[in-house]
Amino acid sequence: MKTLAHRNIPITIIGGGIHGISIALRLLREMPSAARHIAIVDRYPEPLTQWRQKTERQGMTFLRSPAVHHITPDPLGIVEYAEHHNRQHELAPPYSQPSTKLFWDYCNDALTELTQYPIYYQFEVAKLRWDKGADKHPFRLISTNNVGFRSSCVILAIGSDDCAYIPSEFTSWQHQYPDRIIHSSKFLVDSQQLSEDTGKIVIVGGGLTAGTLAKSLCEKGHQVVLITRKQLKTEQFDFPPIWLGPKALTEFANEDDFQQRYKVIQENRGEGSITPEVMEALQNTPHLDIYPATYILSITSAKHHLQINTSHGMIADVSRVILATGYRFNLRRYGFMTELIKQYPIPLVCGFPKLDDNLQFYPIENLFGSGTAAQLQIGPASGNIAGANLAYERIREKMFAHLPQTPMHIKRSG
Ligand SMILES: Cc1cc2nc3c(=O)[nH]c(=O)nc-3n(C[C@H](O)[C@H](O)[C@H](O)COP(=O)(O)OP(=O)(O)OC[C@H]3O[C@@H](n4cnc5c(N)ncnc54)[C@H](O)[C@@H]3O)c2cc1C
Repeated sequence: MKTLAHRNIPITIIGGGIHGISIALRLLREMPSAARHIAIVDRYPEPLTQWRQKTERQGMTFLRSPAVHHITPDPLGIVEYAEHHNRQHELAPPYSQPSTKLFWDYCNDALTELTQYPIYYQFEVAKLRWDKGADKHPFRLISTNNVGFRSSCVILAIGSDDCAYIPSEFTSWQHQYPDRIIHSSKFLVDSQQLSEDTGKIVIVGGGLTAGTLAKSLCEKGHQVVLITRKQLKTEQFDFPPIWLGPKALTEFANEDDFQQRYKVIQENRGEGSITPEVMEALQNTPHLDIYPATYILSITSAKHHLQINTSHGMIADVSRVILATGYRFNLRRYGFMTELIKQYPIPLVCGFPKLDDNLQFYPIENLFGSGTAAQLQIGPASGNIAGANLAYERIREKMFAHLPQTPMHIKRSG
């Protein structure tokens, strides 16, 4: 495999997850010769590893989003793939949500387009430097193994999984019982350890992660208690679909107060909800107790198990607590950004960067954000699969400017 050491790369995408790969595939479909000028770097040896792990960990069987949202530019790509392979039954009503397996197979198929070119590199970025004024390649990327290369344009497609959110009341309990109280991002439904658990499993959270975990664990015969701060809410999608259309996005773009934009995102993504399909399964699941509108008051140990005192009463014989409490993006939590944030006045609103209309960071020219990092521009859909297309449309011309011999046809009207 070619190495990146000491090379000059026109465009670098940090993150080979859904967004990084989608952006690269879209760019290559428009301009195949870009393959010689682009690198995707990720801490994992294979693309989309993080996506695969998070869906497998929970035992997720179907995506929440419809079939038209995926990693290639052709909206009907998955539907046609399903038809071609006789797998239409893996598109669930009412919105043809693909099964996790179908989605994964389709992604793998699309990834072969990338393997034709050596553009994906295992490279965990430890430092990102910007030498303002340095000629063609002002960015310097240094890996955790101390390998370095230069780039003229960098796109952050780093997701939000490094920002697992643990509510403050749990930090001391987690410190006391680190093996028993874990965030859902660290939990594996099929772990060996779990098969030795004899007590109840308590899941904290009211979103789809909590619901899917509860369903999967009950199906494996565990006694589960689901604790939520509010009543459980059922929604098909995790944001209103209007956020993919021009009306809502234009209104959002007209809002100059970024604090207000943040508020709009919070209101529209809400506190988490469960799809009708998972909710129905939960309602018919034996071995499950749901404690809605409940607070945990204390967690203590009793013999080999935990004992949890809640506003709804005591839960005894608990072997494990899983915090399905989501993620709270904050750019400061990405260690490789620390130096840049210290050196330059990158404006942040509640941890999110204030990017410009082209998703460019201020004051760092040719550094762009996609996914959750671009939420203050793209709106509530930004971190989802559909957000990758919205981000690509904003960044594409800027990317093309870093490629040699930009063909005239890439300038689209409208
Ligand atoms: C269980 C689950 C189910 C979901 N289901 C759906 C769904 O059905 N539909 C939907 O639209 N959304 C869904 N989502 C949201 C989903 O996470 C996003 O749609 C998607 O994964 C976001 O892609 P991303 O590329 O922004 O982030 P990720 O897929 O998390 O990719 C980020 C990548 O950046 C890499 N990275 C980070 N820091 C560094 C570094 N310093 N150096 C190198 N690489 C780095 C990571 O290794 C990772 O590969 C789901 C989320 C979860 C947790």
